[in-house]
Amino acid sequence: MPTVLDPKIEQRAIAAYLGLALGDALGATVEFMTPREIQEHYGVHRALIGGGWLRLPKGRVTDDTEMSLALGHAILTHGGLDARAIAEAFSDWMRRKPVDIGHTVRRGLSLYRRTGVTAMPEHEFDAGNGACMRCLPIALYMLGATTDQLDRANQLQAHITHHNALSDRGTLTVLQLVHCGLRGGSREDLHACITALVAAEPRFAFDGRRQDNPGGYIVETLRAVFQALLSTTSFEAALIDVVNRGGDADTTGAILGMIAGAFYGLDALPMRWLKALERETAQHCQRQAVALLALGAGREQLGNIGL
Ligand SMILES: [Mg+2]
Repeated sequence: MPTVLDPKIEQRAIAAYLGLALGDALGATVEFMTPREIQEHYGVHRALIGGGWLRLPKGRVTDDTEMSLALGHAILTHGGLDARAIAEAFSDWMRRKPVDIGHTVRRGLSLYRRTGVTAMPEHEFDAGNGACMRCLPIALYMLGATTDQLDRANQLQAHITHHNALSDRGTLTVLQLVHCGLRGGSREDLHACITALVAAEPRFAFDGRRQDNPGGYIVETLRAVFQALLSTTSFEAALIDVVNRGGDADTTGAILGMIAGAFYGLDALPMRWLKALERETAQHCQRQAVALLALGAGREQLGNIGL
């Protein structure tokens, strides 16, 4: 039986996926630069022009979007969540010699190839943002799930490369923020969700000093994302804010892009950015957004959470 999706949620899901890709592409230009260097080179960086240390063509995305698409592909082809199918999809992606790959990701996938193990041992130094940056397909497939189910679903994909409680907790909040946006939640709802994270894990407190030069550490990444999200009132302004903080700008851009895309919706994505984004990537993101929502809705109807 075909599943009828709420067209508003579908549009917001597409906006979240395109938002992720736009944030990745916009941020990649200034990754590893300081705010001062960005200012000297670009004034305010606000154009999808490629370049950066990876010397990307205009509109090209990096590992953040590519690993999300690999995860989404695994969920869709397997018809649900399976750690081995996801690890295989990540491994296939690594085989295609991606333009960029984090060292924690490479280490986890190398271990998988050698041993078939799909969960790294827990490691206190794995609190990087590499599992968070690719979590969007989990949010789309698990819409309507309980917090516990959402958390377990995410850990299945995350622990293939990153097994760390702080990273898991931060990523759970990002998933909840995307859900809040997809459901048409308010700014207060977003704020409440972030406040709950800070209450549970005070290291994420974001209302102190401005987080410039956010590194790969999940705490710095999410502090920058929260500050940019809550201090602006449009998709465009939020994304420009976060990438001009420099540091791991493609990943702060990707994470902010998925949340702000879901929250502000498709009409809020600047047309000049959408036009610059690689066409094949944009189409892939759109197709996956719709398909993951539909598969997830089927899961809901059948009562088959599988977790
Ligand atoms: Mg990247």
